[in-house]
Amino acid sequence: MASLASAQDELARARRIHASVIGVDSHLDTMQWVLNAGVDISRRLSTTHVDLPRLREAGVRAPFFALWVPTYYKGSEAVRRTLQLRDAVEKLLEAHPDQVALATNASEARRIAGSGKIALILTIEGGHQIADDLAVLRMYHRLGIRSMTLTHFRNNNWADSSTDQPRHGGLTAFGRQVVREMNRIGMIVDISHVSDKTFFDTLAVATRPVIASHSSCRALSDVPRNMTDEMIRAVGKNGGVVGINFGAGFLNAKDAAGLRSSIAGKAALEPQMTGEALDRFAADEYVRGYSVMKKAAATLEDAVTHIERVVKLAGIDHVGIGSDWDGISSVPAGLEDVSRTSRGRLEDAPPHRRAPGSRLQRAGRGEDSRRQLPVRAATGDRALTAWDRPPGLSLAFLHLQWIGATDVAQALSLPRRDSSRRLRSAGCFRCKWQFARLPVRLPCG
Ligand SMILES: [Zn+2]
Repeated sequence: MASLASAQDELARARRIHASVIGVDSHLDTMQWVLNAGVDISRRLSTTHVDLPRLREAGVRAPFFALWVPTYYKGSEAVRRTLQLRDAVEKLLEAHPDQVALATNASEARRIAGSGKIALILTIEGGHQIADDLAVLRMYHRLGIRSMTLTHFRNNNWADSSTDQPRHGGLTAFGRQVVREMNRIGMIVDISHVSDKTFFDTLAVATRPVIASHSSCRALSDVPRNMTDEMIRAVGKNGGVVGINFGAGFLNAKDAAGLRSSIAGKAALEPQMTGEALDRFAADEYVRGYSVMKKAAATLEDAVTHIERVVKLAGIDHVGIGSDWDGISSVPAGLEDVSRTSRGRLEDAPPHRRAPGSRLQRAGRGEDSRRQLPVRAATGDRALTAWDRPPGLSLAFLHLQWIGATDVAQALSLPRRDSSRRLRSAGCFRCKWQFARLPVRLPCG
């Protein structure tokens, strides 16, 4: 019974932490559903990975919503499409002021999330969306957009992508200007999707931390969209964050080939259209591609392994979650949608935690996962003040603490400071329900 009591203590503790922190996911593609299929994400849906009620339940109160424009939108067409997405966000904000509001800096995010609403943080996904014009970039910033992924699946005119043939050998001189301007105005530079050379060129010029908003570890799943160990270490030194992508191919080597071929297929699309015809093509392609999840070998356990690897390579402050939900076509077992990190799931403790007849036993679903997502929990305002560090891009690490255990500390060989102070007194890792929390960085005001 002692162990049941401590199990319940752990659950209570996890709930307390869950209720007190602001969860962040650095990459969600849900606005594609809103624009392309007109779905109403203020209601609980079964067709998407994410909606506002499930975000609330999951404690993901500060999600990054990507305004992604496929690379077959060229020049001003890409700008037009970006504005459609931004307009769709505005409609959402106007229709549901009780549920969601735009956050353009850390204190806004904190205030909005504190009032029980979702604090939307907007990003754009693909440097082609600025149509080679820094004025367009600055206008996006004035529209509240706070991060940009430098490329998508194809090279643009100033940066090479990880999934295209090298054309510039990394960043061009204009590409370096883009990075400098983003640093100057307070837009987070996102190096997911870029080629390895573009990555290192970016770090050489960046004066502020970068993020890899939705990339995982290449050593574990060999896709060019993932990061090498060297890149992960470099992000750590830069003070940046790697948001682990939950797409099955990003996580599990068995699913990697499928991901590589689906990226190649998407990158090859070159519809010769503009205007409404192009928009219809894009909508069809999205809805077809993301409605039905393909079978996958990946499990939640793989996501944990990736998180652990980044912890080992860069340190615990440099790993986050960038699930890519609503932008991936196969999901791991155990991480099917954002509700999988919800409070309700606390009841799904592994069987060895359940005493006969206990509430846990009645509520549990018999999962025997040895590991759950590592929980890192904010320790209150101390962490949040870090968000406000001026000027421009401030670090917004949710201060992290593992509800983990000594065996995890050993397995991870965490830095002494972490393992000694935070982890020593904990119990069995496989007995802990855990929540994922991630570091956030937001530009300040
Ligand atoms: Zn992406």
